[in-house]
Amino acid sequence: MTRTNRAVRTASTSRHSSFARLRGCWLLIAATLALCAGSADDRRECRFAATEPAAAEAWQRTTRQTLFDLLKLADLHKSNAPRDRRTPGLPLNAKTLDARREENHTRFEIEFDSTPTRRIRAVVTIPAATATRPAVGFPAVVCIHGHGGNADVVYDTGSIYHGFARALADSGYVTISAAVGQHQVYEPGRTLMGERLWDVMRCVDYLTTRDDVDAARLGCAGLSLGGEMAMWLGAMDPRMRVTVSSGFLTTVANMRRGHCPCWEFDGLTARFDFADIYSLTAPRALLCQIGELERAPGGFPVDLARPAMEEIRACYRVFGSADRAVLRIHPRGHEFENDSALEFIAGALR
Ligand SMILES: [Zn+2]
Repeated sequence: MTRTNRAVRTASTSRHSSFARLRGCWLLIAATLALCAGSADDRRECRFAATEPAAAEAWQRTTRQTLFDLLKLADLHKSNAPRDRRTPGLPLNAKTLDARREENHTRFEIEFDSTPTRRIRAVVTIPAATATRPAVGFPAVVCIHGHGGNADVVYDTGSIYHGFARALADSGYVTISAAVGQHQVYEPGRTLMGERLWDVMRCVDYLTTRDDVDAARLGCAGLSLGGEMAMWLGAMDPRMRVTVSSGFLTTVANMRRGHCPCWEFDGLTARFDFADIYSLTAPRALLCQIGELERAPGGFPVDLARPAMEEIRACYRVFGSADRAVLRIHPRGHEFENDSALEFIAGALR
């Protein structure tokens, strides 16, 4: 071989290996893009795009882990791995502060450890008719209030919640309600949305420790911020067999117009829109309620909810469960609708 040939071959080999490296690099980028299939335009780098159940489940697992990281909850979630179905990893040290008999249920005020260094209070109701208690325990629902609310307001029949928690309490469900309306972060290094979510996840932990609760029949429901937190709880906690998210189904773009920005945290909107978060509930039962009279800015209009539900249904369809994601448009404004919610919950927790 002449020197020139050697030189040509060396150059060619070098070009080939550069090309191979480049090709490998592109394959890696392509694989990453396939996993997080989105376009730079809509900023949803990790939007749901799977077409097979196994890929959809893989997306859900990866997405939950990403979100626990972004919400600054990964450490708590890891420490709280349950020892068994009724024993959360982190002890609750629950204490009853008050008990009051009402017509069809008993109302308790309790407190328990949300984290090893922070205790929270909650309202719990237990059906009075213990004779009707199923052998495996009552089904139970986490009931969540909105902005400016408190743990009691979801039991108030004269409010925009129409006392949906009271209606559940009087219909044979154990209910629990905790305050999630804070706008300050309690523990250094956490996030507001993370702490709100963690508190309602600990409400679920509390329910599972009760002998009179059937830990296999759990759900959540809420309005407005409560509808948002129901979305998060249903998405991140697979123990939720049914989720009722009222007065929230919308888009990130709408939340940027006329809404309190407390819904946002670093890294969320670059990767996801809310349809993706709701898609984490698939194939479990999901009811979203929106009032026909809702208007933007500042509200949650139907014309944004419909296409968002179509996106969510695309995920449910992959699991063969499109009928389990329901959008109920009711004729009123920003308020909860008891009848459709109670019927849906009863059907899902049968
Ligand atoms: Zn807020």
